[in-house]
Amino acid sequence: MQSLNVNDIEIQVERKPIKNLHLSVYPPDGRVHVSAPLSYLDEKIILYINKKWAWITAKRKALTSFDIQSPREYVSGEAHYFMGQLYRLKVIRDGRFPQHVEIVGDYINITVRPQAEPQHIEGVLYAWYKDHLTPVIAPMVEKYSEKLGVAPEHWEVRKMAARWGSCSTAKKKILFNIELAKKPKNCIEYVVLHEMAHLLSRTHSKAFRKILDLNLPNWGQIKEELNEFPL
Ligand SMILES: [Zn+2]
Repeated sequence: MQSLNVNDIEIQVERKPIKNLHLSVYPPDGRVHVSAPLSYLDEKIILYINKKWAWITAKRKALTSFDIQSPREYVSGEAHYFMGQLYRLKVIRDGRFPQHVEIVGDYINITVRPQAEPQHIEGVLYAWYKDHLTPVIAPMVEKYSEKLGVAPEHWEVRKMAARWGSCSTAKKKILFNIELAKKPKNCIEYVVLHEMAHLLSRTHSKAFRKILDLNLPNWGQIKEELNEFPL
């Protein structure tokens, strides 16, 4: 296999008897691979890669940042995000104090009992996330209740699979994913507005998008930031 250096990234090039050029970015390290027709000259491939550069960088960023963050072991030194800031975890095993979490400089200090298992530490950390995320979301819900003229009957923060939030339009009930505690506040605000807009439109209709445009004009950009931000 041949390799080309484009914008300081090594691109693996494989020539095959195919008709069109095919570009892939692979986990876990964001390796870029190109399958190219036999007749294609390097120049033509480089031109194509440059055209796709924004897509390549976004894809690499998403893949590699996810890889760095996962899986979590809840040990000292591990990187964890909170409200968009990167912290290091410091696990303090000391039975003399009640278990608790506090931010000290660039560290999230978690005090637990000497025998605490990773799963237990995770639980303590997530309870803390919930305690902090709820009062961040509350004024946002209030703000958009006024702006949209509709309020949820009930909302809460909880662990959710795969989605940032959900809204039951009929029951006027909104759930927010606890993972949002790791995200920057503008991303949290976008999710709040998104779910609250579903109180007015169940689907991602034209009317729905208009609500977003009107209340958070750069929502598209924030949505991208949210999905690219490491977990
Ligand atoms: Zn939606």
